[in-house]
Amino acid sequence: MALIVQKYGGTSVKDSERIKAVAQRIIKTKEKGNQMVVVVSAPAGMTDDLIRLAHEICDTPPAREMDMLLATGEQRSIALLAMALCAQGHSAISFTGPQAGILTTKTHTKARILNIDPDRIKTELEKGNIVIVAGFQGATEDDAITTLDRGGSDTSAVAIAAGIKADVCEIYTDVDGVYTADPRIVKNPKKLDTISHDEMLEMASSGAKVLHSRAVEFAKKYDVPLYVLSSFNENPGTLVTKEVESMEDVVIRGVTHDKNQAKITIFGVPDKPGTAFKIFNKIGEAEINVDMIVQSIGKDDKATISFTVSKTDLRQALEIVKEVGKELGSSEVLADEKVAKVSIVGVGMRSHSGVAARMFQSLARENINIQMISTSEIKLSCIIDENDVERAVQAIHDEFNLSE
Ligand code: ADP
Ligand code: ASP
Ligand code: MG
Repeated sequence: MALIVQKYGGTSVKDSERIKAVAQRIIKTKEKGNQMVVVVSAPAGMTDDLIRLAHEICDTPPAREMDMLLATGEQRSIALLAMALCAQGHSAISFTGPQAGILTTKTHTKARILNIDPDRIKTELEKGNIVIVAGFQGATEDDAITTLDRGGSDTSAVAIAAGIKADVCEIYTDVDGVYTADPRIVKNPKKLDTISHDEMLEMASSGAKVLHSRAVEFAKKYDVPLYVLSSFNENPGTLVTKEVESMEDVVIRGVTHDKNQAKITIFGVPDKPGTAFKIFNKIGEAEINVDMIVQSIGKDDKATISFTVSKTDLRQALEIVKEVGKELGSSEVLADEKVAKVSIVGVGMRSHSGVAARMFQSLARENINIQMISTSEIKLSCIIDENDVERAVQAIHDEFNLSE
């Protein structure tokens, strides 16, 4: 008997037919004698619809109320799935995130899981129930409902798996594993049997939304065996696991892209100590994540700084930069929403040389201009025009022969 956590994403529970199909899959695993905790997302598109609805009511919805609203999508799925299991003769109980003991930070819409109290889930498992938990949500210590950032149900699942010491966490989605690039973008991607935690983390944080990056962090930290599988077929999926030496033999594991990027440029700021601090301190205080930063060489005591944030944070970041820009005597602040990021990821980058040149060459051949570059030990990213992103991913994928 094993203790298994399964997570079903939006497309897997999008309507009653799909919910019934998911119930059957759960029952099959349960009937093999396993204990089951199942985490579910809102039906596909519902979280987007709720956000749209909120903005029809007001421009800047209060964050607390936004979370109250967003949490309803997942709540709908847990109740319906529990009903489907009961209709098929199995005892199941649904819990919201707070009921399942998920304690988070207070940052509404981007909360982080602080702790999981496993008692309630465990008690229900011992009674023989299938436990269904709403993904993407938790509560603060003052009982305010929070959500975890878009795509966060994966993180709920892995955190619960860690909290209850499950034997495995299986993420069921609409693709049968992690591929060398997004199968919706690239013609001939290859499914990976295994991927290291660090590679998956870099892929997730650079746009491969098949897994939420915090989920990978939890899996690594708490040693949770993590699989990505399809809820539409029985194909073997991808195992996210510890790095082994042979993984470095492959130059690049995958190519990712992220269209949720925007660039802000602030011109004519003082080329002296403290300038960058003044700008990025204010942005950090607003809990906005900055990704790439480029500063030009100073000229006439003035410098230009460009950086990227997510498109969703652009409006707020721009307001802050304009404000700080005034204090710093900046000549102009510009925003560009028509950018995207392409990245290559692989632990093999540590031991193979010339990788960057090959990426740049493949973009040059396509006549794609690189606006910004950033590197880490196992990742290389370029900011390019948003309209070039599909061609860029395919060209890089071909350059590194990732289909083979
Ligand atoms: P869910 O609703 O099940 O959480 P998501 O839409 O969040 O599903 O994630 C699955 C999607 O991730 C796939 O449909 C696919 O288009 C996308 N994706 C992006 N990059 C990759 C990749 N490298 N491998 C597999 N899927 C990817
Ligand atoms: N429903 C949430 C979202 O769309 C969480 C998730 O699907 O993981 O972002
Ligand atoms: Mg997802």
